[in-house]
Amino acid sequence: MHGEKKYVEIVILKYNFDKIFHYCIPQDLKDRISLGSRVTIPFRGKVTIGCVVGFLAKSDVKNLKNIVQIIDKKPLLTPQVIRLTKCISNYYLCSWEKILNYAIPKTRKAWLKKFDITDISSPNSPQLPKDDKSSDNEIKFSEEEEKERPHLKNIENIINNKKFKTVLIRGNDFNSRMKIYLSCIRKTLKEGRQAIILAPTESHLSELAGLLEKEFKDNMVVFDEKIDQKAKYQKWIKIRNSQVNIALGMRSSIFVPFNRLGLIIVEREYSSLYKEERSPRYNAREVALKRAELENIPLILSSETPSMESYWNVQENNFLEAELNTGGERENLLKKTIINMTQEKSKKKIISYELQQAISRSLKNKKQVVLFLNKRGFSSFMICSQCGHIPKCPDCNTSLSYHLDIQKRAQLICHNCGKRAKVTDVCAKCGSKEIRPLGMGTQKLESEIRKMFTRAEIKRLDRDSLIKDDDYRQILEEFNQGNTDILIGTQMVLKGVDFNNVDLIGIISADTLLNLPDYRSEEKTFQLLSEVISSFREISFPKEVIIQTFNPEDHCIVALKEQDYNYFYQKEIELRKELDYPPFTHIIKIVILGEEKEAVKQRAEYLISYLESLRKDEESAEFKLLGAVDMVLWKSRNNFKVQFLIKVKDLERFNKVFKKKYDKMLSKHFDQKNRLTIDVDPVRMI
Ligand SMILES: [Zn+2]
Ligand SMILES: [Zn+2]
Repeated sequence: MHGEKKYVEIVILKYNFDKIFHYCIPQDLKDRISLGSRVTIPFRGKVTIGCVVGFLAKSDVKNLKNIVQIIDKKPLLTPQVIRLTKCISNYYLCSWEKILNYAIPKTRKAWLKKFDITDISSPNSPQLPKDDKSSDNEIKFSEEEEKERPHLKNIENIINNKKFKTVLIRGNDFNSRMKIYLSCIRKTLKEGRQAIILAPTESHLSELAGLLEKEFKDNMVVFDEKIDQKAKYQKWIKIRNSQVNIALGMRSSIFVPFNRLGLIIVEREYSSLYKEERSPRYNAREVALKRAELENIPLILSSETPSMESYWNVQENNFLEAELNTGGERENLLKKTIINMTQEKSKKKIISYELQQAISRSLKNKKQVVLFLNKRGFSSFMICSQCGHIPKCPDCNTSLSYHLDIQKRAQLICHNCGKRAKVTDVCAKCGSKEIRPLGMGTQKLESEIRKMFTRAEIKRLDRDSLIKDDDYRQILEEFNQGNTDILIGTQMVLKGVDFNNVDLIGIISADTLLNLPDYRSEEKTFQLLSEVISSFREISFPKEVIIQTFNPEDHCIVALKEQDYNYFYQKEIELRKELDYPPFTHIIKIVILGEEKEAVKQRAEYLISYLESLRKDEESAEFKLLGAVDMVLWKSRNNFKVQFLIKVKDLERFNKVFKKKYDKMLSKHFDQKNRLTIDVDPVRMI
């Protein structure tokens, strides 16, 4: 057997090479070395650290050097996770070294000595419940439950089969989702297997942890945001030693080294926070899917408003579905009002007459009001206040951004493809002259509200207006104690606001949410506002959500009013298909950033010619390059930026060809001064 273990394939962790190096294994290390071991190796006259990613019986490379030492007694990653990291490196076009460095927890020499990995004595950890004597420990929901929710059978089946299959749970009630998680986890542990549960945010994580700890306190570890490196390492070792069987965490916990993994749960799968925005730019939901496939285990994705990708997979029969939406007992206490702003008499007012009346009523009833305004991006767009028409790019269907150039001349630019258009003062749809840029700040809203309600206590919560986190917390606290009548804010008010005494939420401009230059803006708005409505629903007195918009016919607004996910999905998927957007294609966002305009432009041209050269490769997949013909150099702070989008149907094929000469191109033209970033399946388009 050792005959095969003559040479090792090593990824050098210290340098960003994206290459595999061969080394010899000295006789005395042969028994101790395994896949995933970190080793010290001689490299270009120095000693550096590498990770073992494969073994070879022979190597074509001459004069191979010996490994010096093995660092970890037992590798910190399992062989399956090593394979997973390779897949991620291919999929996300990032180097294997980057993803390994990310997945392996930071260690110090002292910790390695103190908290060592022990050998696992038996495949069944003593902490697994053994009390279950019944031969049938299959998961089973009651007949009554199943009658009500026929989809529950799908969950039963995938858990009992113990094979790779994904089920998407659609449920608007966290507690009923939780009940299912608990049954599935119990069953998995009984089989002597382990579970990973992911949550998108710290607050969702602690909510889940609190409930799981009641039953599994000594059998689980939680990787929260505040965890330090040492604590993380200790928990990692517990997992590696099979001292615990449940790991709960945010996106990076998908890499924990369970060696008998039996289940992965991704709570609120739609959340954009599953996407890592720095390199390696992976999405934990996609990685979970890949890991479940590699380890041949069930995967549960769940959310109230599934991502387009996930629900499309249900429609394509790749995923199973389990719907558990509960009836609307409390629904009738929640009124949803859509205000058509084109019908307002005064076109310049931010607050409609109806919203103004509703605010007065709340104040009279001694209730609190939350007014929500989207954070104004660095761009705004044109809108006709007579008919709601918004000039859009004919190719990309995203709104054209309104920009002033250095001479203060206005123009409209498409953020996706660079198409430019003249600003006209007449609406192309209705001929009205009431077309102008839309985009307002919370400050302007605040001053208007102050004029309307002179005696009310008003606070504004907005990152731009606040310097310290303490101020932020104080404003929230004052509101939650009932000292503030009206709270104005951006998305952030939705986190941390206690709705207990709120009976009115006003969405000031749905249009600014719906018209971000991003093909996902409708989806994001639907998810965001559904979440607002959902957390507001719990309150037991009559309350109202008022949404102001110039486009009440928009499918997102209609679906919100009716709380009809299926309607939203159908309309949205048709648009995506028509315009070749994901899930029908993959998007790769390429950004070039540098301080000098000419240098950036030149780099962009190198890259374009590199991409064009790929078309000549016979293995190459077809792709569309957006932003190259009408290249736009954006100025962001002290940098110039060029952005391209690549739309590709067969990502795997494209990536293979792209990687062929990528290293050379990268080292020849790019460095710290002129940076190139590649983002596969980006969640943010600008
Ligand atoms: Zn365009
Ligand atoms: Zn118009």
